[in-house]
Amino acid sequence: MNPGTEIQLYNSMGRALVPLTPLREGSVRLYSCGLTVYSDPHLGNLRPYVFSDSLRRLLEWKGYAVEQVVNITDVGHAVGDGDEGEDKVEWTARAQRVTPQEVAEHYTALFFQDLEAVNVLPAHHSPRASAYVEQMIEFAKVIEKHGYTYLLPAGLYFDTAKSPGYGKLALMPNAGQLEGGRVSSEGKRSPADFAIWRSDPPDQRRIMRWDSPWGPGVPGWHLECSVMSISLLGPHFDIHTGGVDHRQIHHVNEIAQSEAYLQDGQDWVPIWMHNEFLLQGGAKISKSAGKMPTLRDLTSDGYPAMAFRYFLLTGHYRSQMDLTDQGLQSALSSARRLAHRVAALGPLPDIRTYEQARSGLGENALAVLNSIDAAMSEDLNTPRVLADLQVALRSADLARDELAVLAAAALWLLGLDLSTLAEEPASESGAPEGIAAEQVEALVRAREQARTSKQWGEADRLREELAALGVQVIDTAEGSRWSIAP
Ligand code: AMP
Ligand code: ZN
Repeated sequence: MNPGTEIQLYNSMGRALVPLTPLREGSVRLYSCGLTVYSDPHLGNLRPYVFSDSLRRLLEWKGYAVEQVVNITDVGHAVGDGDEGEDKVEWTARAQRVTPQEVAEHYTALFFQDLEAVNVLPAHHSPRASAYVEQMIEFAKVIEKHGYTYLLPAGLYFDTAKSPGYGKLALMPNAGQLEGGRVSSEGKRSPADFAIWRSDPPDQRRIMRWDSPWGPGVPGWHLECSVMSISLLGPHFDIHTGGVDHRQIHHVNEIAQSEAYLQDGQDWVPIWMHNEFLLQGGAKISKSAGKMPTLRDLTSDGYPAMAFRYFLLTGHYRSQMDLTDQGLQSALSSARRLAHRVAALGPLPDIRTYEQARSGLGENALAVLNSIDAAMSEDLNTPRVLADLQVALRSADLARDELAVLAAAALWLLGLDLSTLAEEPASESGAPEGIAAEQVEALVRAREQARTSKQWGEADRLREELAALGVQVIDTAEGSRWSIAP
């Protein structure tokens, strides 16, 4: 079990790399916070699932049996992400004059389509929050019985002062700061306290509502993930993932209420992992910012979905990435070049685990395999895996069938399905081996700019992208020089 380099993951709880020690030997249970299905999933929304898919592939690569849940939030997430305000799904339903169920079904289908297009393996469970409301009420009754809640006209609230480790994940033990500046419900004991159950406001009747011991209403958004994860994966499971915004409030609150429910003195989930944001023009791509780019926009602009996945993989999941035409264009060219090189190897074997890959490899090829395995095992360093693969494909020391094994292994780990890129115009296949000097110059300039403006994550990403093209960059006092790596 766990052959090759030991898996090390960056745990947001404690902000350090930690070895993975599964709670049950041989298997890993993983919960990834899902989408709120009230509008088109945008490109930023896809990043968490490409990231958790990379994690899942690494775990399977090592031979673990993985069980993954990605939920669908079809009720309970209020506009503004707080406890007040209309439900996001109902808000869209009113605007579009359809039912909330139609809204949820429509956007859930788009979400699944997008995940499939970027080759994310389907989750083992995709629970809808609306199907778990009875369990949520039972869960809320237990934390109420354990003395963690108080009742207000606005609903049942969680008393964060009763939760000793509250805010640890956010590195904000002073819980009062967490929701600073946000309008609070009348009577809240601390701004950080949050709704477990949101009662119907007196002047408004929600379309989606359930009876409860605290009056008709809807569950709080945070409650959903605690209940769905515990129901499907058991009281404790190995890894919980989401976007970095969830590290501040959503996951903090999930932890507080789950530990209040379980009361077993154990940490609820040992490893918390968060992806950084995808930006556009330096700002987070977000639904509240108005028009946001979708995968459909990209494909109608001529970028296959796989070029977007390739683009994401050229950055580390914990680095911010700026989505630019130049970045996409260069990802597309690199992905096509890779597709042509790999096509020249003939049909690839079906390789999904380290054990499958290593049998039959000679010493040099095994060294490359171990380097790919180490890069992925060290907190999912996908840019390095891409670079290793590119270097291997140029190597004269490897036999063709060994290269086929290495390519199959790396592509499976990266989730790159190059078949969608192979049948591209002949102009690309005409010069697959060459690297256009202008393209390299443009990337080097972009990297220098990123360094000047202290965007270190972006600068690192561009360096990795250049490395993936076989280009070495040397920074000197006079600026950056580049050369083709030997
Ligand atoms: P939501 O539907 O708002 O709950 O978001 C679904 C997932 O997308 C969450 O894990 C968010 O953290 C994540 N997310 C939203 N915007 C971005 C972005 N611009 N970049 C990366 N992740 C994002
Ligand atoms: Zn969640």
